[in-house]
Amino acid sequence: MNAVVDLPAQSKLPRVKTTIFAVMSALANHHGALNLSQGFPDFSCPQPLMDAATRAMQAGHNQYAPMTGIPALREQIAAKVQALYGATVDADSDITVTSGAIEALFVAIQASVRPGDEVIVFDPAYDSYEPAVELAGGRCVHLSLNAPDYRIDFNQLESAINPRTRLIILNSPHNPSGAVFSAEDLDRLESLLADSPVLLLGDEVYEHIVFDGQHHQSLLRRPALAERSFVVSSFGKTYHTTGWKVGYCIAPAGLSAEFRKVHQYVTFSVPTPFQHAIAHFMANSDFHRELPAFYQAKRDRFRAALDGSRWQLLPCAGTYFQLLGYQAIDDRPDTEMAEWLTTEVGVAAIPVSVFNADGRDERILRFCFAKGNDTLDQAAAKIASL
Ligand code: PMP
Ligand code: GLN
Repeated sequence: MNAVVDLPAQSKLPRVKTTIFAVMSALANHHGALNLSQGFPDFSCPQPLMDAATRAMQAGHNQYAPMTGIPALREQIAAKVQALYGATVDADSDITVTSGAIEALFVAIQASVRPGDEVIVFDPAYDSYEPAVELAGGRCVHLSLNAPDYRIDFNQLESAINPRTRLIILNSPHNPSGAVFSAEDLDRLESLLADSPVLLLGDEVYEHIVFDGQHHQSLLRRPALAERSFVVSSFGKTYHTTGWKVGYCIAPAGLSAEFRKVHQYVTFSVPTPFQHAIAHFMANSDFHRELPAFYQAKRDRFRAALDGSRWQLLPCAGTYFQLLGYQAIDDRPDTEMAEWLTTEVGVAAIPVSVFNADGRDERILRFCFAKGNDTLDQAAAKIASL
C-alpha cells in the first residue's frame, strides 16, 4: 500500500481495538452462549412505550427533530430532575437530547477538552472516555478505584488536580463495579472544587438503578457542582430500549451552547418518533420508580444462586452488573477466562482488566443481570459448579 494513505500506520487511536462489548457479544452469538457480557436487557420494553412510538410514526413524526431535541421531551426531563434532584434546569437552554449517552459523552469531551488538557478518569473506566479525550488532543490521568468497594480516594484526587486539569469524569452508579456515590462523596467533591475552574462530566446512565433503599446522588443535586457539570443519562437503561439510542446531556446554558456546537455536526438530531414516544411515556408513567425493585430482585436471585460457590461475590449497590472474582477457581488472565467461559461453559461475561489503562487484572469478571429469570438461573447453574 502507498505509505501516504497507510492510515493504520498513521492511526489517531493506535491503541484502540474493537470495543469489548462488540467482541464478547459476537463471541457469545457465535458459540450460542448465554450472553451476560454486553449490558442490555433480553426482555421487552413496556408495551405502551412501543405503542407510543408506532403512533408517533403514524402521526407523521418522521422528519428531523429540532437539533436540541423536541420540546416535550426536554420539558419532561426538566420536570424529572426537578422532582428527583431538586434541580431547576431550563428545558430550552440547558438540555440537549443525544443519540444515546455515548454521543453525549463524546460531545461533552470534544466541546470542553483542548489540546494539552488533562482529564481525570477513574479506572476501571467505561471504555469510550479515553479515545474521546485523545481525539480532542487531551490526555487522561488515570486514578484507581479498588475492589471490593471501588470508592474514590479524594486525597489522591486532590493531588492529581493541577493547572492543566480541565475535566473530571465521574460515573455513578459505576460501570463495571456497581458502586454508587454517597452524599459525603458529593460533599468532598464540592469542597475540593470550591475555587477551581475544573469542569465535571457526570455519567449517570444508571441513575434509576440504585438498590437497598439508597438514592442516586446526582451532581445535579448540588448547585455548586451542577454549575460546572455536563450530566449525561440514557433512556436505554431506564426503559429497556438500548437499541433506540436516546440519551441526553444537562449543562448550564453556557456549557450547553458549546455542547450544541459539536452535537449539531455529530448527529444533528435524534430519531423523532422515539423522542415523542419517550416524552409521552414519561408524562404518563412512573416506570423509573419501579426499576430499583425490579433489578434488585434479579441481583438477589443471581447472587443467591452463586452463594456457596467458589466465585467471590463483590458488592453491587447499583447498575445491572455483578462482579465476580474467580481467584479461587482459576489463575488464567481475565480476558482468557471470559473467552473460555463463553466458548466452553456457555456463559459470556466481560473481563474487567480492559477498563484499566494499565491492564491491572484482579481476576474479576462482570456479569449483566438484566436478563430473564430463566437465563439468569441457567447461567448461574452453569458457572456455580466451577
Ligand atoms: N456510560 C456507561 C457507564 C454505560 O454503561 C453506557 C452503556 N451501557 C453508556 C455510557 C452508553 O449509553 P448509551 O447506550 O445510551 O449510548
Ligand atoms: N454500556 C454497555 C455495557 O457496559 C455497552 C454499550 C455498548 O455496547 N456500546 O455493557
